[in-house]
Amino acid sequence: MHKLTLAAAALATSALTATAPAFADGHQRIVDDQMDLTVHFHWRRSKGYIEDWPVELAACEATGVCLKDATAGKNTDNHEEAMNLLLAGGNMPDIVGGQRIKQAINEYGPQGAFVPLNDLIDEHAPNIKAWFDERPELRQAISAWDGNMYYIPYLPDGKYARAWFIRQDWLDNLGLEQPNNIEELEQVLIAFRDNDPNGNGVKDEIPYFNRTKEEALRPINFWDGRTSGSDTYHDFMVVDGQIAHPYATENYREGVKNLARWYAEGLVDPEIYTRGSSARDYLLSENLGGFTHDWFASTSGYNVSLKDKVEGFNFIPFLPPETVSGARFQEHRRIPIKPDGWAITHANENPIETIKYFDFWFTEEGSLLANFGIEGEHYTMVEGEPVYTSAILDSGRAVNSQMYEIGAQAFRGYPQDYRYEWQWTRESARKGIELYDTQDLLLDQFLGVAFTEDEQAVYDKHWPSLRTYMQERQQAWVLGNGDIEADWDDYVAQLENRGLNDVLEVMQKAYNRQYGG
Ligand code: CA
Repeated sequence: MHKLTLAAAALATSALTATAPAFADGHQRIVDDQMDLTVHFHWRRSKGYIEDWPVELAACEATGVCLKDATAGKNTDNHEEAMNLLLAGGNMPDIVGGQRIKQAINEYGPQGAFVPLNDLIDEHAPNIKAWFDERPELRQAISAWDGNMYYIPYLPDGKYARAWFIRQDWLDNLGLEQPNNIEELEQVLIAFRDNDPNGNGVKDEIPYFNRTKEEALRPINFWDGRTSGSDTYHDFMVVDGQIAHPYATENYREGVKNLARWYAEGLVDPEIYTRGSSARDYLLSENLGGFTHDWFASTSGYNVSLKDKVEGFNFIPFLPPETVSGARFQEHRRIPIKPDGWAITHANENPIETIKYFDFWFTEEGSLLANFGIEGEHYTMVEGEPVYTSAILDSGRAVNSQMYEIGAQAFRGYPQDYRYEWQWTRESARKGIELYDTQDLLLDQFLGVAFTEDEQAVYDKHWPSLRTYMQERQQAWVLGNGDIEADWDDYVAQLENRGLNDVLEVMQKAYNRQYGG
């Protein structure tokens, strides 16, 4: 892992724009006469491509290529369902994009529904080529089973996502230090439970809480258990080149056993599976919650919003405590590629112009447009750095929401630029990120595999019901319904009966093919 100072990390993210070859004549025009291309673009914000987004209008003017919305499934929130409707309809647009397209593109691409991009990129997309030449492992990760790339992904930037947060003012009230390992953490949570850190004379504190029920499991990390191999919950993981599932390991058994003990002892929110997304708002504003695992940027905002409501309120990120084996890691992080982006369909009669258009978003001009909007309107260049205008930064609204409304940060295939987020990350989160950067905390992620049709069938047959079974058992054990140690052998036998080994076998085969294992 690279150890960069934050300033260096922020600058490093712009390296691609510095090294990417620009068009020789200095502009990005692709066609002389305007070329309209139709696009399916199903994503959570608008379930369609908005033709009068300022960012689209600017791209249309710069390149001569203009996108026309042809999105299927506008009445569903489910991206896969929209994709199925599109494919079933048979009337394919020129471009298929949006969220969660990877699986379908990589399944139907080799069958001829989408255009393989490798040669097109080599010949016509110097900026995309330069980007992937520097990151060959990501080229592998998005390729289909036949070795071809069929889509250009949305490429998130930045390293950290969620962090461990603790009420520093509660520690101070009780005269305690920040916990450095799991034993100290447990003692702190016991003190939060018993010693009235909020000072109201009532034993009402909730030591560990989370607004996301899947995050209930995260403390098993402190017993070296894993909750997922990627930023997708319940995902497979890679251990020394071997695909495994976290929920079928002995560290998981040990972690869940101890988490169940914490739950029974009142160190975990009794409503952790049911309190829901308002848990963080409620437990912090009522001065009840002590410790959580949540996003750096949004969680650090409470020190501002609760400053006048809760006296002395100070909820800050701290280093993950050392595990029982003395390891220290942060399991959740940003994934470098998303299953989102866009692809060229077999119906597209202008694949060369289209790949040049995709390449535009990887040029300096295109990347600035995709990340920051219109220069002079949404951002200005200050000493060579894009800086949002005060109208954006000081509006009191989340910057990402404002960007979505103008068509920036939309989930097209483009390289995100972390400078976009850093400038509205609050001071306490910046300090936390700098603290995390002093350690080598992050783990390699499982970036997924592309199945053949036969492998996909094995996966589809077993995995959804296996995952459901694992989750049901997991929640029951944490809540004290059953004893994981007593139940373990039966559980492992059940996983085998339900096809886990068959799923692992096809995943390993696909993994070896894709990553040369
Ligand atoms: Ca109290």
